[in-house]
Amino acid sequence: MTENNKKVATIFYGCQMSERDAETLTAISTHKGYTVTKDLEDADLIIVNTCCVRESAENKIIGKIGQLKKIKEKKPSLKIAVSGCMVQQPGIMERLKKRASHVDIWTGTFDLENFENLLDSALQGEKAILISEKAAKTSEVVPLAEKGKLRVSQNIMYGCDNYCAYCIVPYVRGRERSRPLNDIVNEIKELVASGSKEVTLLGQNVNSYGKQDGFSYDFADLLAEIDKVQGLRRIRFMTSHPKDLSNKLITTVAQSQNICEQFHLPFQAGSNRVLEAMNRKYTREYYMERVDNILREIPHARLSTDIIVGFPGETEEDFEQTLDLVSKVHFAQAFTFMFSKRSGTAAADLPEQIPLEVKKHRLQRLIELQNSRSLSWRQKMIGNSYEILVEGTSKTDQKLLTGRTRGNEVAVFEGNEDLVGKLVKIKIISANSWTLYGEFEGIS
Ligand code: SAH
Ligand code: SF4
Repeated sequence: MTENNKKVATIFYGCQMSERDAETLTAISTHKGYTVTKDLEDADLIIVNTCCVRESAENKIIGKIGQLKKIKEKKPSLKIAVSGCMVQQPGIMERLKKRASHVDIWTGTFDLENFENLLDSALQGEKAILISEKAAKTSEVVPLAEKGKLRVSQNIMYGCDNYCAYCIVPYVRGRERSRPLNDIVNEIKELVASGSKEVTLLGQNVNSYGKQDGFSYDFADLLAEIDKVQGLRRIRFMTSHPKDLSNKLITTVAQSQNICEQFHLPFQAGSNRVLEAMNRKYTREYYMERVDNILREIPHARLSTDIIVGFPGETEEDFEQTLDLVSKVHFAQAFTFMFSKRSGTAAADLPEQIPLEVKKHRLQRLIELQNSRSLSWRQKMIGNSYEILVEGTSKTDQKLLTGRTRGNEVAVFEGNEDLVGKLVKIKIISANSWTLYGEFEGIS
């Protein structure tokens, strides 16, 4: 059954995997005849792909689902689907169902491929609920990423087996499972043939790619194969768990053509005591040694990280070790979070939970330090030329074009709209903590 003239609007919360799943659900809807709109009021189907990694995300989502009720009151034919990590938590359905009687479809992280059937049931007026407890043997769900999109992301693996003490991901995304190399490479070839120039490979811990499935090749081998794809200009990947970051991977990046010199390497905490309590399986010394190895082979590598403050039992001295690490490793960017208690995880039951005021104060100190580090990272780039993949015009000023360096820094410059989709060289003339400002030098 196709849905002529009907429109779908999709909202996602959380990480790039959530964004990728949201794209898949949108693609399934467009295959059924829906066209995409950004305007919720104009939509006949609204998909909300959720996140539950921190309580703040959940609160936002619950608020959003509440707002959708008003839209549905005005347009009773509207169908609303809620999907993703938040739906996957045990007990959450009971909590949400009461507040969200206007939702038509509920579906978890393991059921993307059944979305079309769920949508059919909802269109026939039924409540459609499918929340499997684990992945089916073939965890493949492919409509590909949107054809012709300049920058695409691809899952190379699903789930996580690491069980960091604070983290809910292994509970809502299941055991780690990797996709075969040929499937990934063939998909990327198709995407490149349709016009894509950049791919980001996604996994919770890309460095353990293939291990649980007993593949004869590893992540570095996969990257080396993707590097050979003709016409692909940029390859990124995330996230790298420091414990599994091999020298082979660093050398592969160093010797490649198209793999961007960029490592997102979350350290989470600077104190060994806290790292152990977090079950991260490395020490600060090991982390610093990995960073040294990266910088020895790739001196211009761009490092970014994730940091949690206020893990249960974190003392002022522990926190200072986090600040110390940030002042020793020059991160271009850090995603900083206050510890959020997630029911079902090991850290939720630990004694010595840190008061909110203390967490807020630590976060603020950390952000101040990192902002000055981010600024000095970008200021170092002033006067040099960089290759930019031009993504479009700036939202705030139509005369400006925006794009990214190989290191993933956002850059803006004045230029003609025909440059969109092209690789160009720009010279950096100024910078703030988030953005580079440059002058067009020529096509790259
Ligand atoms: N697989 C990735 C991270 C996925 S979650 C990795 O291991 O690096 C993204 C980030 O959210 C984590 O790196 C962590 O910094 C943060 N995070 C996860 N659970 C959290 C919690 N309970 N409270 C606060 N931050 C959390
Ligand atoms: Fe969560 Fe740790 Fe897995 Fe990352 S590696 S998803 S932080 S459990």
